[in-house]
Order: sequence, then structure tokens, then C-alpha cells
Amino acid sequence: MKVVVIGASHAGVGFVDAMRRRGFDGDLTLIDRQKGLPTERPPLSKAFLLGDGDEAKFALRKPEWFRQCGVQLQDRCEVLSIDAAGHDLALDNGQRIAYDRLVLAMGARPRHLPSAGNLDGAFVLRDPEDARRLRAAASASRSAVIVGGGYIGLEVAASLTKAGKQVTVIEAAPNLLARVASRPISDFFLDLHRGQGVEVITGSSVASVLEAGGKFTGLALADGQRVAADMLVIGIGVVPETALAEKAGIETANGILVDQDMRTNIADVYAIGDGAMQRDGRYGIRLESVHNAQESAEIAAAAILGEAPPKRQAPWFWSDQFDLKLQSAGILPEARDDLRHVRRAGRRENAFSVWSFNGADMVAVEAVRDPAGYMAGKSCLENGKAPTPEQLADPDFDLKAFVADKQVA
Ligand code: FAD
Repeated sequence: MKVVVIGASHAGVGFVDAMRRRGFDGDLTLIDRQKGLPTERPPLSKAFLLGDGDEAKFALRKPEWFRQCGVQLQDRCEVLSIDAAGHDLALDNGQRIAYDRLVLAMGARPRHLPSAGNLDGAFVLRDPEDARRLRAAASASRSAVIVGGGYIGLEVAASLTKAGKQVTVIEAAPNLLARVASRPISDFFLDLHRGQGVEVITGSSVASVLEAGGKFTGLALADGQRVAADMLVIGIGVVPETALAEKAGIETANGILVDQDMRTNIADVYAIGDGAMQRDGRYGIRLESVHNAQESAEIAAAAILGEAPPKRQAPWFWSDQFDLKLQSAGILPEARDDLRHVRRAGRRENAFSVWSFNGADMVAVEAVRDPAGYMAGKSCLENGKAPTPEQLADPDFDLKAFVADKQVA
């Protein structure tokens, strides 16, 4: 059997890894338009961005891994079309590649501010090349404005502040991390960034992008404020890569639609990672995380090999900002007003976790400097049994014993 994967990033590489670990000895080909070895994405807004140019340490796998695993990596190749009936692909170098099973791991691309389109000094961040461009511009800049107070915007804000730049973050929602974090965590990160000298403007959107001679100079905001800066970073979310799938007759809706085994509606075609959207997924949203990329890869590998699916974990995520790590597990529902949050101190200095409840159901844990609190919360989510908010609010409540007991049960 010949298996071809479009996209050699966290999902695509995770998939070929899972296939070999599960004993598959047929042909595996990974195709990506990016040049060179697949690179980890999370460091692009942190260590890679601030780095000394030694990028080899950020490779997802070493070059010898591809040889040892017998995985053929075709980089700098864009797939232009899929012929689902004929089971083959057309590449931009004129080549055609046949497949028995096809895995779409094409991820997502960043949203742009249309008016910042081709301006010198305006950046998005998704690929290593984006990060290199941003790094070079930052070294010649004193100030940056970041549009979007989500994880990527805040991580870039922290990195550029650490590098000595004057940073302003503009967020249209009334609070930071509005889509992804609980209110106590959002407030915590607002205080953290302001405390580190980042100017944060919430509840204000961009009216126009200012430029002089094709070079970015600043932003005019809807509330009349003007923010001058040497460079602009746009972190306003991503759009799943679906065009190729749509052209091939594969159903899409905010992602390539898949069933619980990551199968699309077209025979022998699967989709995984940021670009895939589960039809009847438990959370009703498209997940964008390294964990989801790896887990969906593992599920697709099991399905293709006719094996039982792996046990699912609670969705988890992390974010590094300044010298602090946030870890979260679970998904907060879109309607947040009725949620109840309990803050619990961790064992380390200034460590804490926030546990969110939707009625009686625990739905998420977010932990700052508190890996033990995070692990306990994740375990509760996965075992479907959590302490009550009252228990968590009690500093004498033995959370460790509660979790150990539930694991044994
Ligand atoms: P992608 O990583 O988007 O990869 C898709 C690949 O497909 C790309 O390499 C692309 O070139 C290729 N491709 C697409 N179309 C074609 C085509 N037609 N032909 C050939 N190749 C094609 N997640 C976390 O959990 N924690 C973090 O701290 C975190 N930090 C992040 C920081 C940054 C700066 C970024 C950008 C992301 C971060 N993420 C983080 C998110 C995480 O990186 C993504 O969830 C993950 O990369 C998704 O993997 P993927 O393989 O599905 O898609």
C-alpha cells in the first residue's frame, strides 16, 4: 500500500511516525511546499524568533530519522490538485504521484489585515520563513504594534519586549485571549503584560493602516487613537487550508469535514490536524494545537491499518510568555457568562490553577507555573470525575489523594 501525506508539519510527521510505530512497512511519502526539514511551530513565536540562527535544534525530526523510517520527504513541492477518482495528485513541478490512501495534513494559514497586504514592515507568523523575516525586521526596529491579543499575539509581544522593543497590543474584544481562556486567566495575562511594560489596548479595532512610501508607520484605531510603530505583527487567527479539498469534491465547513476516524466523504482520503473539522466532534469546534495534530494523526493511522482507535485525551495546550508557562486542558464553551471559576493555589511560589465549571460539570483547567495542578485537572477531565468547586476552594482539600483514588477506581 502507498500512503501519501500532503503537509509535513506536526500532523503529517506525527502520522508517518504513528504508521511506522504500528508496523506499517509500505510506502510513505510526505509532501510540503516548505523548504527544508519540518520545523516545530510553537518556538516560532519564542526561542526561534529570539534565537541565534541555529535552527537545527527546532527540527521536528532529525534528517536521519526520515532515512531510518523509510519516509520519503518531498519538500518545496506544492500539490496543485487531487484526482480522487484516479487516486493521484498533481504537483507544481509537473510530477504526478499515485496513492492508495491520501492524508490531508495541510493545516491553516494566517488571516491578514487586507489593508496591510503588501506593506513593508507588516508580518504574519506561521512558517519558519515568516519568523526569519520578523526576526530580521525586529533587529532594525525600536517599536512594534501587534494586532490580536490571542496566544500568538501575546507570545510575540512577550518575545519582542524581552528583546527590548516597545510593544503595543491591540485587541478588539473587551479582554485578552477572549476565545480561548477563562476570565481570571485573561485578567492575569493582562496584568502580566502591563507589568512588563507592554501597552495593551482592548475593546478597540483597527480603522486603517498608516503607511509612507509603502512602509508601515502605524495604525489608526476606531476610537480615534493613533499608534505609531516601526513594525506590525498580525495575530488575528487562521483560516483552514480547504481549497484543494473543495476542488476535489471533499466536503468542507470551517475545515475539511471528517468522521471520528478522520475519514473524509471521499474514499481513501483522510484529514488531520488544524485543517480538519470533526462532523460530530464533542466540542463542536475545530481544534488548533500540537496535541490535536498528534492525536488526530494517531487516530488516522489506526483507522488506515484497521486497528482500534487510541484512547482520547482531554484537549490540551500550552503557552510560554515571558518566563511563565500556562498549561490548559479541556475546552471552555463559547457562552462563558454562566461559568463558575475556582482559583486554587499550587505548591510552588506564585503557582495556581483555575478550574472552570459549567453547572456541575468541570470543563477546563488552566494552570500557571503549576504542572501538578494541570495534571490533576486533566486527569479529572479524562476520568469524568472532578472535585466540587467547594472542595477545590478549600486549601486543605487533598487533591492529589482525590485524583489517585479516581485513577485506581
Ligand atoms: P501546519 O503546522 O499548519 O502544517 C501544514 C503544512 O502543510 C505546512 O507545512 C504547509 O506548508 C503544508 N501545505 C499546505 N498546503 C499544501 C500544499 N497544497 N502542498 C504542499 N504543502 C502544503 N500549539 C500548541 O499546542 N502550543 C503552542 O505553544 C503553540 N504555539 C504556536 C506558535 C506559533 C507561532 C504557531 C504558528 C502555532 C503555534 N501552535 C501551538 C499551533 C500549532 O503549531 C498547530 O496547531 C500545528 O502546527 C498544527 O499542525 P498541522 O500539521 O495540522 O498544520
